[in-house]
Amino acid sequence: MSFLAQEVIRRKRDGSALSAEEIEWLVAGITDGSISDAQVGALAMAIVIRGMGGDERVALTGAMTRSGEVLEWDLDRPVLDKHSTGGVGDKITLPLAPLVAACGAAVPQLSGRGLGHTGGTLDKLESIPGWRARLGNAEMLEVLRTAGAVICAAGDGLAPADRKLYALRDVTGTVESIPLIASSIMSKKIAEGTGALVLDVKVGTGAFMTSLESARELARTMVGLGRSAGVGTVALLTGMSTPLGLTAGNALEVRESVEVLAGGGPADVVELTLALAREMLAGAGVRGKDPETALKDGSAMDHWRRMIAAQGGDPDAPLPVARERQVVAAPATGVLTRLDAYAVGVAAWRLGAGRARKEDPVQAGAGVELHAKPGASVTAGQPLLTLHTDTPERFGYALDALADGIDIAPVGTGFTPPPLILDRLD
Ligand code: URA
Repeated sequence: MSFLAQEVIRRKRDGSALSAEEIEWLVAGITDGSISDAQVGALAMAIVIRGMGGDERVALTGAMTRSGEVLEWDLDRPVLDKHSTGGVGDKITLPLAPLVAACGAAVPQLSGRGLGHTGGTLDKLESIPGWRARLGNAEMLEVLRTAGAVICAAGDGLAPADRKLYALRDVTGTVESIPLIASSIMSKKIAEGTGALVLDVKVGTGAFMTSLESARELARTMVGLGRSAGVGTVALLTGMSTPLGLTAGNALEVRESVEVLAGGGPADVVELTLALAREMLAGAGVRGKDPETALKDGSAMDHWRRMIAAQGGDPDAPLPVARERQVVAAPATGVLTRLDAYAVGVAAWRLGAGRARKEDPVQAGAGVELHAKPGASVTAGQPLLTLHTDTPERFGYALDALADGIDIAPVGTGFTPPPLILDRLD
C-alpha cells in the first residue's frame, strides 16, 4: 500500500489517528530513505504535539522492531534483559548482568555510549584494558554460552528505523514525547529477543523524566508495549535526584561495580541491583540461587570475570586513574540535604567523563567521587567530593556546574532522604 507522505503528516498534524498500514509504510520509508529528513522531522513534531493512541503506539513499535533483524538465542536458559532510562552514576548493568547469569538466566545487554550528562555503559567498560564492545552475533552467542552474560554494542542491523528517527528527533527538538520515547526503547528491546524485560525508569533532576507522573506514564506505556509484543515487562520507578552510588565517571564506576560484585559497595547500588535481579528472575519464573547469595558466595564475580575475559578484557588489570584530583570541601556544618544528580552529571561530563558529540573521546579516569550522600551530617571543610581529570583546566567548569547543586541545612533539621524505589508497575 502506498500513501503520500505530506498527506499522512497533515492528518497527524490535524489530530487524526494514523492507521497501522500508514505507520508501517512510514517506517519502511524512514528505513529506506524514501521519506525525506524534513518530512520525518515534521512527522515527529506532529506526534510530539498531537500524541499517539494505544493502537498507533503498538503499530509504531512493531514496525520499528521489524525494520531490522530480530535476534533469536539458541540457549538452554531463559533470556532476560533490563533497560534503564539513564541517570548519573547508573552503573547497575555492570554488576546486574553477571549476577542474573549466576542465578541461572542468560543476559544479553546491548548497550550504548554516553551523550550529555548521563554516562554510557560501553564507555565505562572500555576503561578495562583490552575489553571490546563490538562483537558479531556469533561471538555474542559464544560469550553468552561461556559467561551467561554479554554487554556489547547494539549492531547496526537492530531497529534501523529507530536509529534514523532518533537522530532526526535529536536535532529537531522532538525527543520529549512519551509515544516516541517508549516506541524507540521498546522496539530495540523487543528486537533483542528477550523473554522478559525489567525497566528501570528514572525520576528526578538527573533523569529524562523529572516528575513522578510523567515517569509513571512512560513506564505504563512501555509495560503495555512489551505485553502487546508478548514480552513480560515490569517497571520500577527509581529516584534520580542524587547520583546512584558514590561515583560518576567511567573507571570510577567500574571500580564501584566490582566492589558490589565482591559483596560490598554502596547500599543504594546493592539495593537496586538486587531489586532488579529479583524482578528479572521472577519475570521468567527462574527459581535458582537467590541474588544476595550470588553476591556473597563469589559466583556473580566469577561470571563477571568470565564475561570480561571473553570480550578481551583483563579483569585483574589496574583501572586507569586520572592524572589530577581536586577536593571540594563542605561549605558549612549541618545535614547534607541535596547533592543534585544533574549538577554532578554535568561536572563529571565537563571533567572529561562524557562527550558533547558522538565522535568525541572520553577520559577513562575522569569523574566525580562522592564522600557523602543526602542525609549525612557534614562538618565545614570536610571533603564532600573529589573531582578527577587528566586536564586540570576543566576543574573550574566542573566547579561552576556544582555551584548550585549542594544544600546543607543546619544541624537538627529534620530531613529523611526519599526511598530509592518509588513505585512498581506491571
Ligand atoms: N532512549 C532511546 O533509546 N530512545 C529515546 O527516544 C529516548 C531515550
